[in-house]
Amino acid sequence: MSTIVHPPSIDRMAAWPALAPLIERAGRKLVVDALRAWADARRGAPEVADAAACAHWCEARLSALVQPSQRRVFNLTGTVLHTNLGRALMAEEAIEAAVAAMRSPTTLEYDLSGGGRGERDDHIAPWLCRLTGAEAATAVNNNAGAVLIALSELAGGQAGGAREVIVSRGELIEIGGAFRIPDIMARAGCRLIEVGTTNRTHLKDYAAAIGPETAAIMKVHPSNYAVQGFTKTVSAAELVPLAREKGLVVIEDLGSGTLVDLETWGLPHEPTAREAIASGIDVVTFSGDKLLGGPQAGLIVGRKALIGRIARNPLKRALRLDKVRLAALEATLRLYADPERLVKRLPTIRALARTPDEIRAQAERLLPAFAAALREGWQAGIEAVRGQIGSGALPVDLLPSFALSARGKGLDKLADAFRQLPIPAIGRIANDTLLFDLRTLDDEAAFLTQLSSPVFGGGAPQGRRGS
Ligand SMILES: *Cc1c(COP(=O)(O)O)cnc(C)c1O
Repeated sequence: MSTIVHPPSIDRMAAWPALAPLIERAGRKLVVDALRAWADARRGAPEVADAAACAHWCEARLSALVQPSQRRVFNLTGTVLHTNLGRALMAEEAIEAAVAAMRSPTTLEYDLSGGGRGERDDHIAPWLCRLTGAEAATAVNNNAGAVLIALSELAGGQAGGAREVIVSRGELIEIGGAFRIPDIMARAGCRLIEVGTTNRTHLKDYAAAIGPETAAIMKVHPSNYAVQGFTKTVSAAELVPLAREKGLVVIEDLGSGTLVDLETWGLPHEPTAREAIASGIDVVTFSGDKLLGGPQAGLIVGRKALIGRIARNPLKRALRLDKVRLAALEATLRLYADPERLVKRLPTIRALARTPDEIRAQAERLLPAFAAALREGWQAGIEAVRGQIGSGALPVDLLPSFALSARGKGLDKLADAFRQLPIPAIGRIANDTLLFDLRTLDDEAAFLTQLSSPVFGGGAPQGRRGS
């Protein structure tokens, strides 16, 4: 004789008092779905339903849904502009502007003086022109989009065949996220003409490649790698006269594209958009969320006639920015009007400008709590490390910094425990040491609060100063 006990109906289970708090938090629909899954999971099981166990099971199942998928984390990787962790943090001014734009209708494309239609680029173009010295500017979704639309408009073969764009073999880059210059060229409807070699390209290489189908010469910032040793690249100052003589457009993909001289804060030089414009480049593209420190965007500055054509290209409509990011971008650019305020207000510059001494002092403040948070057997310490700007800027120049370090058995497990914190802390493992580079630790109080978490077992301080 079989003794199968059928689970109670979903409706009856949903009425169990044990489930009421979960229904209150997650909503009835999600809880009913979880109950169905629970009933399916024990179909035919000869046991009588236990309301408390069921509530517990549903709660665990729904916890992933109830909390946001995109979580706040501590970026302690040592890479200031970490693409996988969302790149630049925005200034409070930009955050406020974005929130205000989200809440209300705005003059996104509306001219208050005449009551007619306005241009969305008008909110940011005057700032970009002022900050780069360019005649005109426009903005799209990201720099990959900026390169795509610029190439498509200035060298793409919409009507006839694809036209040619000359690029040095030393600049045919791939950056993270499958952005490769040859692929973008093809999608933009251009024919890529490679010149020179990986390590050396001369002006005569460009000159020899120019033919009747050539539309443009393109320079690309090598971003995430450096060619060192026996090398030769052709500067804009050399290229521009050649291009003028042949009636060609010169495009430069700056990548990170800073608007200020990083040397102001003791950092190595990174090419600015203003320098590119001053050297005669016709169209310059760069990202909004790398060194510029704003929202994701692709900024295009240059000659008025060329920018006008790009802004009228149908791809512009497909790649345009929304009011929220435009508001944040405008507020970010406005900060650049006052360079003194910049280092206080812009988190990216603030993090880059921190001195090793300042970071070491922070590490010393945090070490006792950090050491106390580790279980017995771990050796906590402070280590001199080198971080990076990230997102393609200065790939070789490393930023001297200090990190909290942990050594012991099972580094991966410890790193995982830090990732399971309410605000996950993301570090890096190098030389059998788990490192938390503090250059980018802004919210020290929140980090400290978490160190008493039971994830690490609490307990008495175990740390000693590392070597
Ligand atoms: C980062 C980068 C890009 C892509 O920019 P996104 O804003 O991420 O689309 C393109 N070119 C270079 C040289 C870069 O460094």
